[in-house]
Amino acid sequence: MEQVEQTAEAEPTSAQVADEAVDEAVDDAIAAEQPRRPSRPGLSPSRTNDFLQCPQLFRFRVIDRLPEPASPAAARGTLVHAVLEHLFALPAPERTLDAARALVPVQWEVLREQDPRVEELFGTDDEVLEWLAGARSLLGTYFTLEDPTRLEPRERELSVRVELEDGPELRGIVDRVDVAPNGWVRVVDYKTGRSPRAGFESSALFQMRFYAYVIWRTRGVLPKRLQLEYLGDGVVVQHEPSEAEMATFEARIRSIWAGIQETARTGEWRPRTSKLCDWCSFRALCPAFGGTPPEVPEGAVERATGVVPAA
Ligand code: SF4
Repeated sequence: MEQVEQTAEAEPTSAQVADEAVDEAVDDAIAAEQPRRPSRPGLSPSRTNDFLQCPQLFRFRVIDRLPEPASPAAARGTLVHAVLEHLFALPAPERTLDAARALVPVQWEVLREQDPRVEELFGTDDEVLEWLAGARSLLGTYFTLEDPTRLEPRERELSVRVELEDGPELRGIVDRVDVAPNGWVRVVDYKTGRSPRAGFESSALFQMRFYAYVIWRTRGVLPKRLQLEYLGDGVVVQHEPSEAEMATFEARIRSIWAGIQETARTGEWRPRTSKLCDWCSFRALCPAFGGTPPEVPEGAVERATGVVPAA
């Protein structure tokens, strides 16, 4: 199934905004599980989107590094990603829907150990069972999109990063990389929400171009295909990137980084209200809603952006 990216953007619906917020939270949870290593100021697709959507949100997440509460939808997304990752560790003939569903309680235990806050999301055992049933249902949809017994991924949950000369470090976690016998590379990302309506794919494709660019720069191979699999409604969005597109992407990311550094210099992390505010964890602290942001921790702006704020 091929969908062509459109440029005409109207207001996204509340459901779309909610799904995107969940996808970002899932990406963050997966990134948090990766081993940490010292790094220079940088950007992931989610944090880039944060700045574009609302500079104040970027400040709360990247400069202040304020904690955010877990949500059932994001935790379910993390669980489903973990199940799919471990499914591909099984021998190909054993990657059945029953096997995937059998991994759900196993990965739920792992999730509880890694993040005890998820226990607090549910008041009763019935609520947990219903939530787990939702995860099994998403896995059922996954099996309508592709047959994992016929795939042999080259990488799963691959941590990618590249340093842009005179720019930020770009980093992210790629759900899956497939390499065909002829060398063609396919980058796959699972989304547990619903697919965007036609004309609203740009945010998701931005993330995929980001990964394509980093793989291209680090491995010298431009992925042939970028594939988003939406388990919320069983839709696959595919895109074939070009080298010209990668050049445009690099120019865009440099321009966004310049905007971030200029904002860091002036300290004007302005709130930009939108439908996203309904899902924002920091609303109580946001000046747009009468809140008062905390003092910026000493040295935090420089650590995150490489810029010393103007006195
Ligand atoms: S509540 Fe809205 S305006 Fe305020 S930080 Fe969050 S997204 Fe930005």
